[in-house]
Amino acid sequence: MLDRIRVVLVNTSHPGNIGGTARAMKNMGLSRLVLVDPEDFPSSEAVARASGATDILDSAQVVSTLEEALVGCSLVLGTSARDRRIPWPLLDPRECATTSLQHAQQGGEVALVFGREYAGLTNEELQRCQFHVHIPANPEFSSLNLATAVQVLAYEVRMAWLAAEGQPTKQEKLETTAMLNSMPVTADELERFYTHLESTLVEIGFLDPEKPRHLMSRLRRLYGRAGVSKLEMNILRGILTETQKASRGEAGKRSDDDV
Ligand code: SAH
Repeated sequence: MLDRIRVVLVNTSHPGNIGGTARAMKNMGLSRLVLVDPEDFPSSEAVARASGATDILDSAQVVSTLEEALVGCSLVLGTSARDRRIPWPLLDPRECATTSLQHAQQGGEVALVFGREYAGLTNEELQRCQFHVHIPANPEFSSLNLATAVQVLAYEVRMAWLAAEGQPTKQEKLETTAMLNSMPVTADELERFYTHLESTLVEIGFLDPEKPRHLMSRLRRLYGRAGVSKLEMNILRGILTETQKASRGEAGKRSDDDV
């Protein structure tokens, strides 16, 4: 799907921005870069700024007009740092991403068009776009670096794509043991714990089996409320085992060695 979304840079002056764009695109999983009449390309500065995303530069398509860059595109979005005089359907980067992705999902080709460092896109170029996209920056300082503007849009496209694919946006890759540990205990594990707890309390003389006085029901209520995890249950069972050992005079073997 992401292959159907191309990034078009119009008449870029600084090759560093082309490299920065390639890097931003590759980071976000985009791959199709089209350069309209770049001032200096190919360039070692572009390669340096791409910092490993040279495959994007190598496969970049260089054309001489915007028209050529847009061949095959059924959705064209033009970015602009300023308000233009002619009102045009305007999207923010998030809306741009969802609209682009929906279009790509339906098999359409999408172009995200970026302008010159010093002058942006001309009105004529902007009028070739169905939508304008504005990054809602500080109105008193709204013009982003070209590659940075690409980064913002590419990031939003990635977020929309991850959501559409049902993929996580957080790297919460818990290890299996950590996952097991955070799982809640089962009813039978809890029952075994209560049995262990009761026998320990009897053994240490805290619970008189002749006069239990609702102690076990109260403790059940307490532990039931706590939502004990498997890891926490292991700790509680460990404490009971050590308590029993202590009361039987079996404890301290390890700590004797340690002392
Ligand atoms: N002086 C130019 C600034 C161009 S910045 C102007 O006022 O138009 C270079 C390119 O980066 C722009 O053409 C646009 O593609 C992108 N860009 C920079 N800031 C942006 C913003 N706030 N919203 C959308 N695109 C932006």
